[in-house]
Amino acid sequence: MSDRFNAFLHSKLKPLVGSEGPLLGTNIAIKDNILVKDWPATAGSKILEGFIAPYDATVIRRLKESGATLVGKTNLDEFAMGSSTENSAFGPTKNPWDIKRVPGGSSGGSAAAVAADLCDVALGSDTGGSVRQPAAFCGVTGLKPTYGSVSRYGLIALASSLDVIGPFARDAKTVEKVFSVISGADKNDQTTIDYNYKQIEIDLSKLKVGLPKELWELSIDPEIKAAVRKMVDWLAAGGAKIVDVSLPSVVYALPAYYVILPAECSANLSRYDGIRYQQSVMKEGQKLLERYMDTRALFGSEVKRRILIGTFALSVGHYDAYYQTAINVKDKITADHERVFKEVDILLTPTTPGLPFEFGAKNDPVEMYQSDLLTVAANLAGVPGLSLPCGFSKSDLPIGAQLIGAKCQDNLLLSVAKQYQEETDFHLKKPRGI
Ligand code: GLN
Repeated sequence: MSDRFNAFLHSKLKPLVGSEGPLLGTNIAIKDNILVKDWPATAGSKILEGFIAPYDATVIRRLKESGATLVGKTNLDEFAMGSSTENSAFGPTKNPWDIKRVPGGSSGGSAAAVAADLCDVALGSDTGGSVRQPAAFCGVTGLKPTYGSVSRYGLIALASSLDVIGPFARDAKTVEKVFSVISGADKNDQTTIDYNYKQIEIDLSKLKVGLPKELWELSIDPEIKAAVRKMVDWLAAGGAKIVDVSLPSVVYALPAYYVILPAECSANLSRYDGIRYQQSVMKEGQKLLERYMDTRALFGSEVKRRILIGTFALSVGHYDAYYQTAINVKDKITADHERVFKEVDILLTPTTPGLPFEFGAKNDPVEMYQSDLLTVAANLAGVPGLSLPCGFSKSDLPIGAQLIGAKCQDNLLLSVAKQYQEETDFHLKKPRGI
């Protein structure tokens, strides 16, 4: 499949057409870090060019058994590291709302493919915001499920303690349908939890919504704040009780994340040695170490940066100062969420601090990392988060609101999102020309 947004990779794949089940007739695109048997899987990296997946990820097996049609593989930041899809070795994906702008990342191809109507649903993975942030940038709905509710078997690992696969669709109803198929315990992933998705219908007048003040106080584009405030008003008009809450530890979420993630990915990426996975031919007379080095030179600069940082953070003498400190912060963030969900049912924040930005606008890595300010805490706490369209900027760019729930309350977030989408039409608006 080819497209003018570079949302898809591997243009010559033939769709795998489903035959029966609840997802019959649903066209689903798959982020290229999830294995589909006999299809390529590059994770957006030169290092995996030519690699063909030998088996189906558990989510793929479940989609196939549900009759879904798999239409292709979508572009991503290399090994899912990034917030703009500019880090893909195969060129950036363009935002269908404005092709001068990024679609977000790392699941930018998946979000753009849904926004451009190239498929009904796309799977992404979210380690620090990679489903929610591109969903917000592309004006679609995206769920980062509870950690462990969806099997990671067959997902190319980034940071195993944070990674989770989640669906994108235009509306929450479709997201829910796909989530109910892909979720559930899996003997091939020992971190999966006993999880039987149950659809619920929540009475808004019984809902208590918390606005975490530490997140709302961050520097957020005023147009985004105003649009999300309107969603707060909608909840209040439906009878929901709105309260300010405090999660003091979330201000440390981003620095802790950018220690834990590099630490885990430096270990996970050590397997790309030029011997396994990719087709690589040893040059005549080449020493093993040279072969490792030639192979690993294929990583892009963001991946190299994180491997270096992670290796440093885990090294003797630095482990306690960096990695252990970050893990302590993660525990505090988890505890803060557990406490706050005794006071309120859900949290509401903007999904992103800024609007979709232009290509090349964030050259400084730390500036790029700021894109994840509002999303990483949910990954560290292991709780579900959902981004849904809640408005547009004056320049006609989509704005996303983020709902966060207690562990395993994905159904509560989806119920609120469905009711919102029954009464508003932000999710139905399409980019010009689509
Ligand atoms: N943007 C974040 C990062 O670069 C999140 C990545 C993700 O969720 N895969 O790490």
